[in-house]
Amino acid sequence: MNRFYRLGLIGYPLGHSRSPALHQGFLAACGLQGEYRLYEVAPDADLRPLLTDLRLHRLHGLNVTIPHKQRVLPLLDRLTPTAQAIAAVNTLWADEKGLLWGDNTDAPGFYHDLVACFGAWARRPRHALILGAGGAARAVVFALLRAGWQVTISARRAEQAQALARHLSGTGTTAPAVLPWEARGQTTAALIVNATPLGMAPHTETTPWPPDTPFPPLAHVYDLVYNPPETHLLRQAREAGVPAANGWGMLVAQAALAFRRWTGCTPPEPSLQDRAPCVI
Ligand code: NAP
Repeated sequence: MNRFYRLGLIGYPLGHSRSPALHQGFLAACGLQGEYRLYEVAPDADLRPLLTDLRLHRLHGLNVTIPHKQRVLPLLDRLTPTAQAIAAVNTLWADEKGLLWGDNTDAPGFYHDLVACFGAWARRPRHALILGAGGAARAVVFALLRAGWQVTISARRAEQAQALARHLSGTGTTAPAVLPWEARGQTTAALIVNATPLGMAPHTETTPWPPDTPFPPLAHVYDLVYNPPETHLLRQAREAGVPAANGWGMLVAQAALAFRRWTGCTPPEPSLQDRAPCVI
């Protein structure tokens, strides 16, 4: 009998999540039956009933987003090496023994899309400035360090940037550096990544890049925000002639990796290409 895949997302709030549409598309593209539901779980509410459903295979896969990516860690039995290093998960499943596993597909999803957008340029490790030091920044910093990049982190709370730099200090060949938030416009980094919500709807007028500040020579910009498709930061980049990409491709790539983990099927390329084009 063919399995009916019961998949879903735990987070709060989830009002505008694109994940159900993405995963329904993957199910259809792979010829599988199933559903992807949203489970709104308040920040201090009990996650264990949903995890029990996963353990007993009444659910077959869960994504996890804000505010539970780190909160769920003590409730899991096993972490993949990537999830262990980042200390945050976005993908959960149970093995045949009923052990609960957690993985982080944001990191490989980000790197996959960086290369998809910027090609050979992105394959050569350089210096990157990451703006923000929250959950998504952890995955981005990890992915770049693992790929041999030199990384600097800048966040409005210096102590948060320093804690992230310390946490991932052994990941790459060089430990991440920290730049004061006020000095971010003076960076010489080749890649600037926005891992803050600045620019995200409804606050579309905001940007993490100081106004009227030139980008470093030959810079590239990657904005994890994808709603709106052209954020204020991407408009600044376009007007300066700087190659830039939004985070839609990362969202699709991390979802595809989670879907493959749950079902064994890699969504075919046409569904992976369903993204706003990179501006190069
Ligand atoms: P998070 O854990 O809440 O971290 C957000 C970071 O941005 C923190 O360092 C936060 O600092 C900082 N920040 C928030 N508001 C700011 C402001 N007004 N000025 C300066 N810094 C500010 O969130 P996250 O999970 O890392 O997500 C960050 C963004 O990435 C969100 O927009 C999210 O939608 C996006 N994202 C995209 C993908 C994708 O697949 N494309 C995946 C994950 C996340 P404080 O702690 O001081 O507030």
